[in-house]
Amino acid sequence: MHPSIRRFSPVALIASIALLALCSCASPKPVQHDQALAVVWMQRSAEYRAACEQAFASASAALPRAIADTTWSACIEQRGDAALASKSPAVVVDVDETMLDNSAFAARQIEQGAGFDAVAWADWVKERRATAIPGALAFAKAAVSLGVRVVYLTNRRCDSGDAQKPSSEESDTRANLRSLGFPIDERDGFDVVLTKGERGSGSDKASRRTIVAERFRIVQLVGDNLGDFAADTDPQKDDDAARYALQCKEVEARRAAIVTEHSAWWGTRWILIPNPSYGGFETVVRGQHGTLRAGLRTDRN
Ligand SMILES: [Mg+2]
Repeated sequence: MHPSIRRFSPVALIASIALLALCSCASPKPVQHDQALAVVWMQRSAEYRAACEQAFASASAALPRAIADTTWSACIEQRGDAALASKSPAVVVDVDETMLDNSAFAARQIEQGAGFDAVAWADWVKERRATAIPGALAFAKAAVSLGVRVVYLTNRRCDSGDAQKPSSEESDTRANLRSLGFPIDERDGFDVVLTKGERGSGSDKASRRTIVAERFRIVQLVGDNLGDFAADTDPQKDDDAARYALQCKEVEARRAAIVTEHSAWWGTRWILIPNPSYGGFETVVRGQHGTLRAGLRTDRN
């Protein structure tokens, strides 16, 4: 017997074994969830905070030039607008994971081993406990101080869109934004919180950007998903798996092309807020490969 073991009394030895057993039971199981690392990065890393602050600082820095140049628009749907110079400036911002941080909701779903759930999401929105994305509030206030209207364009549901499914998401969102100090300036009657279903809109944001463009010169778009900048890029549902996979592949190529075509706009007209936890990228990868893991590339050529 090893001398160090001989020095242990039998009682101490049993107590030690029991303690070890207790420790191994209490240690948490590793989290197996597609979103876990992304959400931890968003909640805990200094880098995520820096990336958001950097994006909003770029947006603020570009605003004076964007305001002064009356030919400047960030909106594809506003191209050819003859009345552009006469319109007052506005920034169009997405809400979720752009101005509001819902990572606490994501963390709850991860803890429960659940995916996105519409009922759980609706309950979360009702709580009105989303916090501000780092840098978002300072940017919104900077825009207001320069006379720029902030318009929120979100796929949270409008309160009156569906009589069969009454919602309070629009009013809950307004209350959540207001409680954090975000500006909601509607003194001329223009609705600055444009939700899904309002004025017959769907989840494609292009038609709601057009509504804003009729009244304002849209100097910046801020979002976490490509659909916040360009026409809806999501694949259309298709029961034929092979056809759907092909469509997703085409959408992936088109998404990349949109980024390349507008390379001069990123950081000035188009401001991207990082969101690795969900979005259009996920839809196209799952659509082609079934799972995210199967979509990994072990060779980049
Ligand atoms: Mg978003």
